[in-house]
Amino acid sequence: MIDSCAYEAKPLLTVAEALARILAALAPIADTETVTLSAALGRVLAHPVTAQTNLPPERNAAMDGYAFAGADVSTDTAVTLQCVGTAWAGRPFQGMLQAGQCVRIFTGAVVPPQADSVVMQEQVRVDGAAVRVPPQPKPGQNVRQAGEDVRLGASLCADHTTLSPADLGLLAAAGVAQVAVVRPLRITFFSTGDELVGLGQALASGQIYDSNRYLLGGLLADPRYQVTDGGVLADDPGQLEAALLKAAATADVLITTGGASVGEADYIRALLAQRGQVAFWKLAMKPGKPLAFGTLAGCHFFGLPGNPLAVMATFRQLVQPGLHQLLGLPYQPPLRLLATCTSLLKKSPGRQEFQCGILSQAADGSLAVASAGLQGSHVLSTLHKANCYIVLPATCQGVQPGEAVWVEPFNVHS
Ligand code: AMP
Ligand code: MG
Repeated sequence: MIDSCAYEAKPLLTVAEALARILAALAPIADTETVTLSAALGRVLAHPVTAQTNLPPERNAAMDGYAFAGADVSTDTAVTLQCVGTAWAGRPFQGMLQAGQCVRIFTGAVVPPQADSVVMQEQVRVDGAAVRVPPQPKPGQNVRQAGEDVRLGASLCADHTTLSPADLGLLAAAGVAQVAVVRPLRITFFSTGDELVGLGQALASGQIYDSNRYLLGGLLADPRYQVTDGGVLADDPGQLEAALLKAAATADVLITTGGASVGEADYIRALLAQRGQVAFWKLAMKPGKPLAFGTLAGCHFFGLPGNPLAVMATFRQLVQPGLHQLLGLPYQPPLRLLATCTSLLKKSPGRQEFQCGILSQAADGSLAVASAGLQGSHVLSTLHKANCYIVLPATCQGVQPGEAVWVEPFNVHS
């Protein structure tokens, strides 16, 4: 049972503690589906795949050149071999190599059984069928051995890998035509707030455009998710209840933005306390203080703050790891790098901060980060300019130019 009692009196919850609670509460979905390899990019592999063939399947040439038996050449003098045919990629040499003979060979062509070495074409002198091979350092060079990439029966790809282009290439090389993947996570998201107006409509005084819908929609654009945009919900308890319960019937996860705080028009909290098992946390995090997490009518629920920068921060730090957990992906902390801060950063102690930064790399490889601008949780132009978070610990009291800080680049995918 999730504790959903009043949160005002409780101390702030750290991001790490909130994350631990989220990960502990979520069990991976078990449903799988089979897709062709061409539809598998970015999906989560459900079962391990082992190689049904050696990779490469046969010994082949790593270079364009001439193939011969190492015993026929010398390590200290040049030797002349007689060229008796050609091995093309896809068309092996059909004859039988005798001692003192070689074949012309191209990259990827099967090395004839009697040969074990290939010399680069640039290193030989050819005169008709006579091929003069300079002293060879060692036999066996420039030959790719069967199974040296992956052995028959060895693991090709572990289960719960999010399939990358490289993974697809490897699976295809081994002849894997289709794979079992975790079915997409069904996510429905809503914006909440009386002030929100959809694009294309004129703004009356007091109204703003619903930007979270696009920000959150963008963060959720991922082949692992099947996303439904639930639209805007008014600050109306009846409408919220009806819409969320209806969505819960078909979704695995509901995400709302706005209305999760303790204001007069923040009804999400009361609704969920009645209809779900939902905890309301005040996080020691900036931006992103209020967060609701739990279940509503059997559906996992994340109630995010309304301010756009808080949406992004809570999504990246807490929601995304939770969604990955539901897909069975092993938890991977975000990549963080040390960089020299070139700006003065203001900060009061108490909350871990995720300030928007612009990370750059100098010619010598060193990393520098500057503040991306005003750090208010509504300042979308700062987020637009930023390419990373500058992650400041709760105890930090500000940063002087020249100090080292941790940065979390935005565009590192997992
Ligand atoms: P709330 O959490 O509902 O109190 O909202 C906090 C702030 O975020 C308010 O200034 C809201 O107007 C703003 N906000 C809430 N939802 C959205 C949204 N979908 N797009 C842009 N701003 C929003
Ligand atoms: Mg609101």
